[in-house]
Amino acid sequence: MSNKEQGVNPINTSWVEKLRCCKCRAEALDLDVKSEDKVGVLEGEIKCRECGEEYPIRGGVHCFHIGVDGQKSKHGETWIADEFINLMPESGLYTSHAEWLEKRLGYTPRIAKLVSEYESKFTKGRMLELLDVNRNDTVLDLGCGVGYLTFDLLKRNPGMGIQGVCVDVLPQHVQMVRSRQTDESNADVMAVLGDGENLPLKDGSVNGILSAECMEHVPNPQTCANEMFRVLAAYGQVLISTPNRGPYERFHRIRIALRALLRRDPGPSEDFFDNPLDHKELAGYLKKAGFHIDRIEFGIKVPMSKRILLMFPEKLGMAIINTLEWVLPGSLMGVTTLIKGVKPRSA
Ligand SMILES: [Zn+2]
Repeated sequence: MSNKEQGVNPINTSWVEKLRCCKCRAEALDLDVKSEDKVGVLEGEIKCRECGEEYPIRGGVHCFHIGVDGQKSKHGETWIADEFINLMPESGLYTSHAEWLEKRLGYTPRIAKLVSEYESKFTKGRMLELLDVNRNDTVLDLGCGVGYLTFDLLKRNPGMGIQGVCVDVLPQHVQMVRSRQTDESNADVMAVLGDGENLPLKDGSVNGILSAECMEHVPNPQTCANEMFRVLAAYGQVLISTPNRGPYERFHRIRIALRALLRRDPGPSEDFFDNPLDHKELAGYLKKAGFHIDRIEFGIKVPMSKRILLMFPEKLGMAIINTLEWVLPGSLMGVTTLIKGVKPRSA
């Protein structure tokens, strides 16, 4: 494809060069641009030269989702897109975690900020801390939601030429990523509607992968881990955070017991994930895919932090939370797993 002939700006072309056909896996794709805005292609089409499959670009989103709805997983049927859409008010449509806590859960702005900063120390913020990035790296954000991680990554590394590929199965999520790009005049992101078990990316096309709270929704985690391994370049790093099934269930039982003791309604069970993984299972999938496990951390041992903060003055509340964090054993109480894997050279 000649970019000059088609009048495509360079950023669009470099994106398409990372993509491959999901159907036949051919790498030669043609881009037909119908319209652009200031950050990239708005409407157009990507066509596979091999099998002729057509992937539209709609509203700036590269649509590579070929349908995985309602697949059976080990734990039952996973969510279909409609169920994700029903959960949107719970899970998305906010530009930050703090905003979600405030607008959705009714936290005061001050508590929302504190809880969000506290949780981020163990999850998203920690992932960004642990990911080593080099100049001009491409980083895949798998199960990107509305793109918190990618936009934060770019903000933390200004002038480094880092590009983010945001992939999610939910059209509304990737559409929000793309809208935010336009709002912020950010051409360093590609919004892709796609499936983690069949990524539309070439082998070795990204230097790092971030995936926060995504693996617990994937029907076949091994297939997804294999795909992450495939698209990552040698020495590339993967950082995943996901609820840790064992401690999460333990915490849930403690919560129900406490409520029974206080003669309170146990409330609805928290059902935010349909294929929850134990940290050992997650490490197992990554190892089997070929990754070397660099580290496993257990995060958020005090999930009821808001209640603690509301019961005491802020400083005392944080001191109690930090003490509990320090005292409680991670493998028993850490309700999230954060794992770092590295793709060895020899792969
Ligand atoms: Zn094809």
